[in-house]
Amino acid sequence: MVFHGPGDLRWEERPVPVPASGELVLRIDAALTCGTDVKTLRRGHPVMIPTIPTVFGHEFAGTVTAVGPGVSRFREGDRVVAANSAPCGDCPSCLAGRPNLCDDLLFVNGAYGEFILLPARLVSRNVVPLTASLPAERAAFAEPLACALLAIERARVEPGQTVVVFGHGPLGCLLGMLAAARKARVIMVGKSGWRFDHVKKLGFARWLDAATTDSVVADVRAAAGGRGAEIVIDATGRPEVWEQAVDSVGRGGSVVFFGGCAPGTTIRLDTRRTHYEELALLGAFHHTPETFRRAVETLESGALVPDGLITHRMRLEEVGRALDLMAKGQALKILIES
Ligand SMILES: [Zn+2]
Ligand SMILES: [Zn+2]
Repeated sequence: MVFHGPGDLRWEERPVPVPASGELVLRIDAALTCGTDVKTLRRGHPVMIPTIPTVFGHEFAGTVTAVGPGVSRFREGDRVVAANSAPCGDCPSCLAGRPNLCDDLLFVNGAYGEFILLPARLVSRNVVPLTASLPAERAAFAEPLACALLAIERARVEPGQTVVVFGHGPLGCLLGMLAAARKARVIMVGKSGWRFDHVKKLGFARWLDAATTDSVVADVRAAAGGRGAEIVIDATGRPEVWEQAVDSVGRGGSVVFFGGCAPGTTIRLDTRRTHYEELALLGAFHHTPETFRRAVETLESGALVPDGLITHRMRLEEVGRALDLMAKGQALKILIES
């Protein structure tokens, strides 16, 4: 599936790629739809899609079918999962140990295809071999899970803490599931509807319905024992919810802004509370090779089983329809099989 610009996704026959030095070619075994793809299809994406036309889709696991010269870590037949980006390794952010903020992140797309070419930098930094026991459709969650893991680590979630997540999309759920796996008490805030009913059944949290209350902040604070939560994470990317997140956190608490808002938006901030209550306001963006590797370990160990987030299975030629279902809020994650 080739992205030619906003609203223009085409099914095309292309030659199977041949790996150059340091590169790998995979057969895609499983790909997952993502809200980012929906957004990108609607309006493009300056960072993830710098040039068009381009192959599309970024959450996948596969099997190595061809190995470029100079690659010694992988051979044909290896099952692997790859991240959708690789940091440069020598810009100031990379050298400071924050490669998710790399000045020159190299993004890779092409999950919605039969084969994908992985560039040398990705092969050397962000491809992880899989054990036989981890199915490809679970391994394909490594990329979104690595993003969620980065946020959970920024927040330093500890056992017994109350963690509130605003947003019940797949990433909100992965955040909640990770916090629950760390033995935190998780409160998920969503809006009633088909998706809300579906994820409620996954059972890792207590659920609050923001659509049926006068004050979601009062409800969250009450559910968190009156004092406010120790950690609040926004996974909606809406400025008004960012404000609710700050209002819901307790003294000394941390707020993690995980969901990206539209460019140019701002939020109001209570300076008195932020200072005297020592609020920690943290951004969380993307993932690092380290969180990617640990996301794979988390999936392999069974500490987190994401299967319940897959609501549909479709074939490669149905990707357009799949992203349409996502856009209408009628699906969580759709597994694409070729
Ligand atoms: Zn994604
Ligand atoms: Zn860098």
